This record gives sequence, C-alpha cells and structure tokens, in this order.
Amino acid sequence: MNVRAQLVMVFNLDKCIGCHACSISCKNIWTDRKGAEYMWWNNVETKPGVGYPRKWEDQETFKGGWLRDGSRLKLRALGKGPTLLNMFFQPNMPKLDDYYEPFDFDYSNLYKAPPGSDQPVAEAFSQISGKRMEEITGGPNWDDDLSGSQTYAASDVNLEDRSIVEDYGRMFMQYLPRICNHCLNPACVASCPSRALYKRGEDGVVLVDQEVCKGWRFCTSACPYKKVYFNWQSGKAEKCIFCFPRVESGQCNACAHSCVGRIRHVGVLLYDADRVEEALLRADDELVAAQRSVILNPRDPRVREAARANGVSEQWLTAAEKSPVYALVKEFGVALPLHPEFRTMPMAWYIPSLSPVISSGRDLHELADHGTFPLMETMRAPISYLANLLAGGNREIIAEILRKLIALRLYKRADTLGQTLETSILHNAGLDRASADRLYRLFTIAPYGERFLIPAQQREEQDPQQRKGTAGFGILKKTRGAR
Ligand code: SF4
Ligand code: SF4
Repeated sequence: MNVRAQLVMVFNLDKCIGCHACSISCKNIWTDRKGAEYMWWNNVETKPGVGYPRKWEDQETFKGGWLRDGSRLKLRALGKGPTLLNMFFQPNMPKLDDYYEPFDFDYSNLYKAPPGSDQPVAEAFSQISGKRMEEITGGPNWDDDLSGSQTYAASDVNLEDRSIVEDYGRMFMQYLPRICNHCLNPACVASCPSRALYKRGEDGVVLVDQEVCKGWRFCTSACPYKKVYFNWQSGKAEKCIFCFPRVESGQCNACAHSCVGRIRHVGVLLYDADRVEEALLRADDELVAAQRSVILNPRDPRVREAARANGVSEQWLTAAEKSPVYALVKEFGVALPLHPEFRTMPMAWYIPSLSPVISSGRDLHELADHGTFPLMETMRAPISYLANLLAGGNREIIAEILRKLIALRLYKRADTLGQTLETSILHNAGLDRASADRLYRLFTIAPYGERFLIPAQQREEQDPQQRKGTAGFGILKKTRGAR
C-alpha cells in the first residue's frame, strides 16, 4: 500500500447558479495579465452545450487523455513518431477561436462621442491585436450568456437523444463549473518532454515549473479537460494552481471562498498510488467504482501507519478523517468524477443535479422507490446524459445517487412540515435519519470550517527524504516530490 494525500474539490451541481463569482475571483488573482486574457482557470459553462474551449469533451477531435492498450495505458495523442514531429506544431490543440478572441470595451466613447442622433456605444477591441472588433463571436460561457443553448446543445457529445434540442419544451439546462482536476494520472504531466509539469507529493497539486517550460504545448493537447493554457506573451504553459499559496496556509481556494451558491467543498483524500493504474484499466462503466476503490479509509489504522511512513503528518491525517470530501465521495457515494473514461483519474468530483428531475413534475415518492429505474429514464435531464458526463456511461450509478438525493429531499420536507415519512424511503436509498441529517447539513448549513477542511502545511517539519512522487507507475515516474 502506497498511501498518498490529495487535496480535492467537490461541486454540488444542484446549487450552482451560474453567477461566475468563482471565475471572476480567479481571474482577478491569477490571470489578469498580458498573454493570459483568454484564460479562465476556473470557468463555468452551460450544459448541454459545447463549453470552453468549444467541444473540449470531443476526444475524436482533440485526442486528449489516455487509452487502454492491452494491459497498459497510453496517451491518446502521442506515440514516438508524432512526439518528435509535434515539437513545433500541435495539430490537435484548440485554436484561439475554439476559446475566443479576448476583448474589452472602450468606454471612453460613451462620454467623448460627438452629439448625434444615435446612442453612443462602448466599442469592443481585441486584447491581443488592440484592433476594434466588428463582431464578437465567442466568449468563455458563450452558450449561455450571449447566444443560446439550443444552437450549441446539439453538439454536446453527452447528449444521446438529440430530439430534446428540437423540442425546446423538453430542454433542460444546468451549469458546470470547472477547474483543473489535479488528476492522479495527469496526462499533462506524462506528456511534457521538458518535465516542467509535476504533481506535488505533499498535496497532489499539479503545477508547471515556469523556469523549465519550453512552450512545446504537449500538455495542452494531452489534457482531455483542456485545462492547460498557452501564454502567448511568455511562451509558457499555465494552469490552475489550486491556489497553493492560500491552501498552504489553510485557507480555501479563491473560487471556493467566493462561491455564492456555496456549492463547493474542499478537503483531503488518502489513496493508494499503487492501485491507480490497475483501476484505470477497467472498462468505462466500471471506472467510477474502480476510482472509488483507490480511495482509502482514513480511520483504518493500517492506512494511517502506511501514510505516516510516506511522510503524511498527523495534522493531515486528522483532516482526512474529518474530510467533507471523503464523506461525499466515499461514505455517501454521492459525488462522481467528470468523464472518468478519459482515464486521468480526476480529483474534482461532482454531485449530479436533481433540480431538472423535480421540474419534470414526476412524483418524488414514485421516483424514490427502488423499482422505478425505467421511470427515472424519463426524467427531464436524461439519466444517459448525466451518465455520459459523470459515470463513463453507467446509468445505475446515477440512478442510485438521484434516489439518495430524492429521499433526502422527501425526508427534510416531511420533517419541516411535521409529517411522518415512511422509513423505507430512506432505507431504500441507503440512508438512515442520522446520515440523512449529516448529509443535509453538508449540503446546506455547514459553515466554512466544515465545508473547507484544509490542513496548513508545515514545511519546516517535512522530512525531504520521506517526500516521494505521488504515483510510482509507468510514465508518471517523472513525478516529483516537492516544488
Ligand atoms: S485536468 Fe488533469 S490532465 Fe488536465 S491539466 Fe489538470 S491535472 Fe493535467
Ligand atoms: S460562484 Fe459558485 S454558484 Fe456562482 S457560478 Fe461559481 S460555482 Fe456556481
């Protein structure tokens, strides 16, 4: 057992209101710079839709992530031949148009314009060329803010039943906030010929060493989530740094701190690095279970002992024990990884949205009942859509989680109205009153210290000999132990 500690974020999709406070706080701190204008380390996109950059989930086009090749994994985009040829040209990388040409507005025209019959407007100019833009054709949440889902939803690779798009009355939508997933098997790290990208041994955060990066952009191609960006000013790769200067001192990430919907939880998971590769070799619809199985019980004395041997401090072990993320991912099993079939083992997890189910007008008691799987297939947000997004196509896992969320909602509704709920509804969903109360608290009124449990790092106490790379298999041998 090779026990490692990982900082993890969980998003409750039901609560995201698409306000973009997260994206703006991140931009203000980290990417408000020349060459980074088009970068949104945290972005929020509208689903169904094509996202940012456009169609990033379509690996037929972008060739990101890993493929199974017999008993091993290989990067989808790279073989030996193409590696050399691609040094100067990355054919699968998104173009600027796939992101958008960043723009700002010239507000001076509003008060400098000469008197006339037309209302003066603030004209848009390109933040790259400085030239006036006749037409704006893209933005970081273009599907929602400036265009309309119907136009783009049909191109969403997760949508199997495209007739929904034609019949707008049946359409559904939800927001999907995204950061770098700080994966356990990061394709970006494995693809870098300069070894500029690395996964920190102490907390699993994936970073780019700006001194070492040569700007080859293999990482941008290899990341299936398109969360490594190329700074056209510096010629280097950049990405979400999980706000490491904040988390090192025990504060939560800026995006999570500013989240208006309080949809985010941050905490520690312990996992067995020796089992990551084996888990990733499973079939697509088995990947969620395999990924969960790699996560270890922080209360197990054998796990704690092995973690200590790898240099995990007592403070981190305590944080892992109380981790809200462990509760949501493993104990309650309500959070799922985004596109596990990309096989990077992402460490941002998502609780599927229940609201589109409720708005379908279905009877919740009926849906909460065990025998209603075919009925759940008819929900407004199709199970197949959520399964393709979050479960490698496994619909049963989505149905199981939705039943849990429905049971919780029925329980709290009955509780609030002073009614009695049949206990079978909770039991069928794998809950009892105590666990339902705990889950409800995590979803709703949990204060800062319960939603974000981030142990400060005490570098002065760390033994450099004990810091090891996070994953000890195959191509990730290049993983470094520390900054
Ligand atoms: S999402 Fe995963 S593969 Fe992509 S940049 Fe982040 S760590 Fe690398
Ligand atoms: S701040 Fe929170 S609620 Fe607002 S868009 Fe971001 S994740 Fe969603």
